[in-house]
Amino acid sequence: MNLSKSKYCTFLQCPKRSWLNCYKPQEAFVSADTKSRLAAGTEVGALARGLFGTFVDVTTVKENGSLDHAAMLQKTREAMQSGEETICEAAFSFDGCYCQVDLLHRAGGGYEIYEVKSANDLKEINRHDVAFQKYVLEKCGIPVSGVYLVCLNREYRRMGDLEIAFGKLFKRTEELSDGLKEEEAVGENIARAKALLAQQEEPGTTFCKSCASCEFFGYCRRGLPEPSVLDLAGCSDKWEYANRGILTMRELLDSGEKLDARVRQQIAHACTQREPEINREKIKEFLSTLRYPLCFLDFETMQSALPPFDGTRPYQQIPFQYSLHVIGEEGAEPKHCEFLADAEGDPRRALAEQLVRDIPEGACVVAYNMKFEKAVLKELAEAFPDLALSLLGIWDNMRDIMLPFYRRYYYNRAMQGSYSLKYVTPALFPEEKEADYHNLEGVHNGSEAMDIFPRLKEMGEKEREEARKQLLIYCGRDTWNTVKIWQELVRVSK
Ligand code: SF4
Repeated sequence: MNLSKSKYCTFLQCPKRSWLNCYKPQEAFVSADTKSRLAAGTEVGALARGLFGTFVDVTTVKENGSLDHAAMLQKTREAMQSGEETICEAAFSFDGCYCQVDLLHRAGGGYEIYEVKSANDLKEINRHDVAFQKYVLEKCGIPVSGVYLVCLNREYRRMGDLEIAFGKLFKRTEELSDGLKEEEAVGENIARAKALLAQQEEPGTTFCKSCASCEFFGYCRRGLPEPSVLDLAGCSDKWEYANRGILTMRELLDSGEKLDARVRQQIAHACTQREPEINREKIKEFLSTLRYPLCFLDFETMQSALPPFDGTRPYQQIPFQYSLHVIGEEGAEPKHCEFLADAEGDPRRALAEQLVRDIPEGACVVAYNMKFEKAVLKELAEAFPDLALSLLGIWDNMRDIMLPFYRRYYYNRAMQGSYSLKYVTPALFPEEKEADYHNLEGVHNGSEAMDIFPRLKEMGEKEREEARKQLLIYCGRDTWNTVKIWQELVRVSK
């Protein structure tokens, strides 16, 4: 079994994860977010190949779709012998260790290693990734004249064609060879990784903060009580508690650990039999900050590693849809307005224009978790200075209806410790089919909306109509449910 750079890095993050990847890959749950991150990686990697102009790509695929390592090793040798300046996916192997270098660039009397990441920021583990590559190349007798990590440049704004250059779409770190001191134990780490991956026995579980984003989290937490300490939100010590055998929230409460007030409150709510808990005074106080006309707003956005339109940055949230319920005065029926772009071209201008028409001037705008809506409004205002006054007016008049749930002025056990709209709504209206997002067809959450919208242009007419209908129903449900939550808060406050 070859030890690749990704196996090596996974081992350093969590030995059990690397073992499970080899022996029980079927237990992994790969989320839609992970899949789109991988797709973004491929897209960005393909563009980065042009960073030094012309290049040779040695990628070779077998009939079954897997990489042909032997052929890639051979092609790399040939490309180096013929003096190629830049080789993509250059392959090297030494003593059971195998790596492909994203970009191998001939310079400074040797070869520079460039590892490309499709993120705006680099992580500590990325340094281990290049340290592993440097180790393998040097063991193969290749003079390494530089080591660099490359990522997307969050300051870059597209204008016209994407500019494939450092300081434009991409940025690189300073030369890292001398800075890889702590990663020098590569040889020792490799020996430990090989020994672990050779053993048949499954390693024990040591929880840590990377568990939250691990594809095996569901597998590793099997057998833990529900809810367990791992269900505590905003408690950075929960992993350590679980490792020490403190598994239930009750056990944690009884353990005498010093806990902050929010954690204590969560545990009390999760363990309490009293429900619902309602703090009428605080809810009244919150409601007094709202006034008519009331506008309930929700945006759907898309986000891509490569800025798709002029004026956009890597990973910018680009709104393509909104739903708005407007209640003009006390007792009035909510009026529904919505916008959904047609997936051709930049949706922002048309969306912003309709939004400022739909929201009455000076209206009180209510959103659930308004941080997101506010960030979108601010970027729209920057993009369209002629609409900025109106857009920033909306921004100014925004109120967050998540607050009574975030602060636990209203809580019942069905919320399962969460204040997310997807938990709060069914918890408040358990009998109502519309409150449950699982009943929706096609689009159940923002990630699915984000995934489906850019694909509309590739769909046939019938499929596109159906997908658009699903997007409209999903987004409309978000604001309708927010209206109902507001009505419920008004009801209980009396
Ligand atoms: S869930 Fe945590 S312990 Fe389990 S494999 Fe993933 S990172 Fe390791």
